[in-house]
Order: sequence, then structure tokens, then C-alpha cells
Amino acid sequence: MTDLEKNICNITENISDAAQRSGRKPEDIILVAVTKTVDADMINRAVASGITNIGENKVQEILNKYDKIQYEHVKWHLIGHLQTNKVKYIINKVHMIHSVDSIKLAEEINKRAAKIGRTMDILVQVNVSGEESKYGIDVESCGHLIEQLSQLSNIRVKGLMTIAPLTESPEEVRVFFRKLRQLSIDINKKNYDNINMEYLSMGMTGDYEIAIEEGANIVRIGTAIFGHRQYK
Ligand SMILES: *Cc1c(COP(=O)(O)O)cnc(C)c1O
Repeated sequence: MTDLEKNICNITENISDAAQRSGRKPEDIILVAVTKTVDADMINRAVASGITNIGENKVQEILNKYDKIQYEHVKWHLIGHLQTNKVKYIINKVHMIHSVDSIKLAEEINKRAAKIGRTMDILVQVNVSGEESKYGIDVESCGHLIEQLSQLSNIRVKGLMTIAPLTESPEEVRVFFRKLRQLSIDINKKNYDNINMEYLSMGMTGDYEIAIEEGANIVRIGTAIFGHRQYK
């Protein structure tokens, strides 16, 4: 087994254990392998080892690698900040956009999706920790944004996403995951048209098991799969 295969195997097992601890089935949890700075060869190897969902945080990286991935069944997730003027480049490529945090961005996605006759699945990114440097809408404004999004017929809001703050101990982030889950429950209760809180995208290399215990069903993992990388 290669290191890559071993890593994927270990993570799959950890995900499975955490799912069971939280009363769910392993197959209820989607593993998004985060491939920023990873080249297409390595991504192809990861897909050959069972990865089906891949996540990129930059539009340019998706464009660079898209045609080099040999597998039709791969689903691309845009997980990083998305500029309105770049939506057009990825609208026909990605399966889901995790980082919608403004009506302006959502309207552009809606418009571009309509133009090519598709509906785009999106998640609303929430800044649950209230840290200033983060993207994401704050908890208090989230309901209002979602109400507005429910009017856009070519996007479908599928849930919420958050990036937990970096902390000394992973246990400290539990409270933020809990907050996101509670928010999704509150929003579901409002029964907005078009809105179904099916997914909670939370948890990365350092905290994905805790995130799953707190209700995550999409985890975004890079370092634990591909090792440490240099970020430009
Ligand atoms: C890089 C990144 C991840 C993965 O982080 P790791 O700690 O390497 O697992 C997850 N989500 C987002 C939005 C990222 O940018």
C-alpha cells in the first residue's frame, strides 16, 4: 500500500467510527478530499484509491486540473471564497459550491446556472466563531439571507458550511460545530420554499471526527490525505 492509500484507508475508518458514535452509518458521511496545491497525477491516484469528491478553494486550480482528471464520476466542490466575476468559469464544472455568503454572489450563480439550464447546489458559509478575518455570513444574518435565496430558482440551498477557528485543542471547536448544527435545525423549522438543510459541511484534518460527532455529514480533508503542503 502506498502512503496515499494508507491515509485514505485510515481516514475512512475514523469517519466510520465517528459516524457510529453519532448514531449514523458510515455511508451517510461524504469525504471531500481537498486537493489544493495537489497535482492532477496525485488526484488521479486518490480517485483510483476510492475518492469520489474533490474540493478546491480556488477557481484557477479547478481550471488547471479539470481536464487532467481521467474519471467522469468525480464530483468537484468549490470550498473557498468565490468572486462574483469568476462564477462563469466554474458553473458547468462543479457539483456544489460551499462558500456562498452574499445575495450578490448567489444571484450571479443563479443567473449563470439559468443560462446553461442547470440548478446549482450550494451551501451557505457561516462564520460561527465571529472571527473578523473570516469569510462567511454571521449567524444573526443567516436566516435572512436564506429567505432571499429561496426565491432564486436555479440554485438549491442544501445546507451550511463553516470553517472552525484554529485552536490549541480540537475540543475547543466543538462548540462552533454545535452552533452550526443548531442553526441548521432552526432554519429547517422555518420551512422556506426551496430550502432543505440536508448537509452540514464542517470538519478538516484537525477536527473532522469531532465535527462528525456534532452532526457533520460532509468533511473536507486535505493534509491528512496528501500530507503537508506549501501554500502559495
Ligand atoms: C484547505 C481547506 C480544507 C482542508 O484543510 P486540511 O487541514 O488540510 O484538512 C478544508 N476546507 C477549506 C475551506 C480549506 O480551504
